[in-house]
This record gives sequence, structure tokens and C-alpha cells, in this order.
Amino acid sequence: MGQAHPGDSFEPSSGTRDGPVPAFDVLIVGAGFAGLYMLHRARQLGLSARVFEAASGVGGTWYWNRYPGARCDIESLEYSYAFSEALQQEWHWSERYATQAEILRYAEHVADRFDLRRDIRFDTRVVSGDFDEARGRWTVRTDGGEEACAQFLVMATGPLSTANVPSLEGLASFAGRTFHTGRWPHEPVDFHGRRVGIVGTGSSAVQMVPIVAHQARQLVVFQRTPAYAVPAHNGPMDPAHEARIKADYAGFRARNRRMISGFGSGVPRHPVSALDVPPEERARVFEERWRIGGFAFGSAFNDLILDERANATAAQFIRDKIRATVHDPAVARRLMPRHAVMCKRLCVDSGYYETFNRPNVRLVDLNEHPLEAVTPGGIRAGGEEHALDDLVFATGFDAVTGTLLGMDLHGRGGLSLREKWRAGPVNYLGLGTAGFPNFFMLVGPGSVSAFTNVIVQIEQQVEWVGDCIAALRARGLATIEPTRDAEDAWVAHVNAAMSRTIYPTCNSWYVGANIPGKPRMMMVLMGFPAYAQKCDEVAARGYEGFRLGAA
Ligand code: FAD
Repeated sequence: MGQAHPGDSFEPSSGTRDGPVPAFDVLIVGAGFAGLYMLHRARQLGLSARVFEAASGVGGTWYWNRYPGARCDIESLEYSYAFSEALQQEWHWSERYATQAEILRYAEHVADRFDLRRDIRFDTRVVSGDFDEARGRWTVRTDGGEEACAQFLVMATGPLSTANVPSLEGLASFAGRTFHTGRWPHEPVDFHGRRVGIVGTGSSAVQMVPIVAHQARQLVVFQRTPAYAVPAHNGPMDPAHEARIKADYAGFRARNRRMISGFGSGVPRHPVSALDVPPEERARVFEERWRIGGFAFGSAFNDLILDERANATAAQFIRDKIRATVHDPAVARRLMPRHAVMCKRLCVDSGYYETFNRPNVRLVDLNEHPLEAVTPGGIRAGGEEHALDDLVFATGFDAVTGTLLGMDLHGRGGLSLREKWRAGPVNYLGLGTAGFPNFFMLVGPGSVSAFTNVIVQIEQQVEWVGDCIAALRARGLATIEPTRDAEDAWVAHVNAAMSRTIYPTCNSWYVGANIPGKPRMMMVLMGFPAYAQKCDEVAARGYEGFRLGAA
């Protein structure tokens, strides 16, 4: 495996519009967990690689999302890399669920331990990329006017990395401070004594609301759709548990990879239907899962995501918990979701519903009191003015495709990705799209991304992409791209598979419904083991469904 190709200039530090354009085997966009591991893997294969990262540091999600309460919903011993036994043995997580700060420290440790930073260009946003058919090379341009080219372009740009700020009338006139959870300042934000408004009630808000409520003089939560939240029961890492896992970490990882979502082998799915057990037994199982905490609740029975009636039993259980927790029956009623549980991302909380019992917290249901405008002094909803000093948008992301389409990408014959995906992100295996040779997406649309422990998905895809590049090189091949037939079949497969679940029944970001005008298309597939197996089979059959081009 070579470094830069013969004839290519290789001047990694001097690629400006005026100077020579540096050339690499692989260009990687993004230095979150996907980009970091892709860089490491490329190096292991002897490939020259350059990463461009818009942030000033590594970590991606965990670099940007510094809001109070930000933490992982997957247990720390699982939400971490498996590729290095030494790394997973030496790293110690302090809590059952790691905080943003601890995950960021871990990402920084990984970058240093594997000496990754020297190939990462920070504070550099890729704004466009073009495939040159004659040379079989991608050229990318950055916001600083820099150019670089490579045979392969890998998008490690993240599923949740383009913050969504709703366009609200009067927003620019607001006189106080505004924040988005996904673009949180690096310096601590103090809410003591302030009147704070939080717009949105998804995962980030559910994590943040209890903490802000303790600081703020007054907190107003503006809710469009209520959230189902299950308790985290977070706590310090149990040393005995950690020792047990570390005694056979590889075995633990392997068991998790056989789970439908790539995690949770410690509390496996109950292998029966919620409808096949008597109500008392069902309640007992839900209660048991509720006590365990976290996503274990979602796998209480084997048909909660497949059968709306089974799902309704879990939804009712959580609504009953809300009723029992929230003192004011009218507030409790507003907090009770009506959509299928898990149809939108299930939230994991630490005191979210209880927070609405505090005298300084108010819930505004935007269905009853529509948001009319942001004013210099706050928010007007349903004719009432809510005076605010701080306005926090916990309004999520233009998920999965937003960041990819934020760049001006052109494949074969100048084909624009934005044009190609006008009706939705057509793709093959979530890894590529026809007309875009040597273009790989990590955690992209059509993969199992958000329904998985994302690090498990990242490792599987990075290894697949690395093996693919190595196989092409070994066979003297120069290009690979999906065929249109293969991607049409894959999109049909994702739609068919997901139509047998509860996921199409609500307006979630999984289908793009949180962004006005975004085409509605199921962007995430469920089932890590089957997905990984399919990717392996495709590779074993000589990259079936891809067109391979000679040098
Ligand atoms: P990211 O971490 O998003 O990194 C992408 C990087 O690409 C970013 O640093 C970004 O700056 C950079 N980038 C994007 N576009 C460009 C460009 N044009 N030029 C240069 N750089 C660019 N997943 C789980 O599995 N479990 C969880 O509990 C969980 N909790 C989460 C909580 C929050 C608040 C959020 C937002 C996400 C959570 N996720 C969770 C999903 C999380 O995004 C993934 O787990 C994982 O961090 C994704 O890694 P990544 O490298 O693919 O993308």
C-alpha cells in the first residue's frame, strides 16, 4: 500500500489555491469517533491520510454538545472503542453513563495515544468536493481556500452535527443570551438568578432541564411533542462490574455485536411478546426494567417495536409513571406522549418529570399555546409573553443528511449530491451512492447508525471501508461505486424492513420530519448483526452491487 501516488505532489503543509495541491490516498472529513478511527485504520494499511475538522479539537459530538447534563445514554463500558485491547483495558470510566467531559477526554486520549493529531487539520471546514473522472481523484476545498486531493473521500461528518435552529419570527431581536445545545460555549454558562426558556423536549432537553431548573430563577420549557423518558439510575462505576467486563472484554464486545442494536447483552431482550403474558406479569417485567434503568426498558419484550398493540402497553406504563410522578394532573397530562414509545428516540433521564413539580418551572404546551414570536424580552406564545433572560434551543439537528448536504459535493459528470438526493438520500448499504466513485459515508443514511451503539457501527464501517480500499489496491483496481440497481434495492429493503416496525408512525428525525421541507424517508435501518453480515457478504462476493473500475 503506497503513500502518495506517483505524479502526485505530497506537500501536506502547503496546499493553498496558489501552491501545489497536496495529495493523499484518503481524505477524511470529521474528527469525531468515526474520523479518528478511520485515520488510524488508514495508517495501519499504509495509506496516506489527511483529516479536515471544523472544530478546534477532536471528539465531534462530544466537542460540540457541552450543555449542562450532556452525557451518553449507552453505558460507558460499551460506548467506547473495541479495536484496541490495550486501550479498553487501560481506560477507566468513572460512571455508569459517561459525561460529555469524560467522553471528550477519552477522545483526546485516543488522539494522543495513537498520535493522530499530526494528520488532522483543525478549524478547517470542507465546503466542497469534486470528483475528477480523468484522474480518478477527489479534490476538496476548505473554508480557508485550501485544496487537497485524494483517491478516496470518506465522510465522517456525523449523524447529528448540523444544529437545527427553528426560524422564528423576531429571533434576531431577542435581547438576552441565546444558545443551541449542539453548539454550546466552552466557558461555563451560569443560569443562577436568570429567567431561562428551553425550546424543545428531546434527549438534550431531557438531560438539561433538571440541572438548569436547580440554577435558574425561573425555567419555562416550551414543548411541541412530549418525550418518553426512562430513568438512567446513573452512578459511580462499580469496580467489580468493571473488573468482570475487563476480564473478558473481547467476549463482551462480541456478545454485544450480536445484539440487535449492538449493545445491551447484559440485559437481553425478553424472548416473548408483551401480549402473550398476563397484565400482572407484563407490569412486573416493565417495573424490573425500569429499576435497571436505561435502554433495557426498550427490550423488555420482543415485539415492542414491531407491534403497535404491544408498544401501547409500554407507552401506557410510562404514562402511568408520569401520572404518579407529576403532582399537577394538568401538567402530567401535557407531559404524556401519545405516539408509540421509541418511535422518537427514547430519552434517558435523571429527574426530568420530577422537575415539573418545582415551583420555578413551568411547562408551555405549544399545541395549546402556539409560539407566535420571539420578542426582545422573551417568547410570546398563545397570546402570553414569557419574559426571559436566556433562550436555549434544544431543537436537535438536521440529522443524518444535513451535514453531508451542507457541502457542495459533485460526483461523476458534475452530478450534484444535493440534486441527486432531492427526493431523499438514495444510497447503498449506507456506505456509498451511485455516481460518486470512491466516496464513502460513515454513519450515513441507510445504515443502522442511530439504532445502534454508534461506536459499534463506526468500527464495523471503518473496518469495511479499510478492507475495501486494501482489496481494490491488491487487485489493481482504481474505483468503486454502487450501481443504481443496488442502491434502489437497498433503499427498498430499508423501507420494507422498517415498514414492519412502529418507526414510520410518527414524525421523528429518523424520517427527516423535524426539518420543514425535508423529504420524508426512513434514513436508519434497524438490526446491526444482519447489517454487518450483509456488508461482509457483499465484500466476500467481490463487492457485489458495486461497479469496480480498472486503473
Ligand atoms: P461526530 O461526532 O458528529 O463528528 C463529526 C465531526 O465532523 C464533527 O466534529 C464536525 O465538526 C465535523 N464536520 C462535519 N462537517 C464538516 C465539514 N464540512 N468540514 C470539516 N469538519 C466537519 N450515540 C450513541 O450511540 N449513544 C448515545 O448515547 C449518544 N448520545 C448522543 C448525545 C448527543 C447530545 C448527541 C448529539 C449525539 C449522541 N449520540 C449518541 C450520537 C453521536 O453522534 C455518535 O455516538 C458519535 O459521536 C458520532 O461520531 P461521528 O464521528 O460519526 O460524528
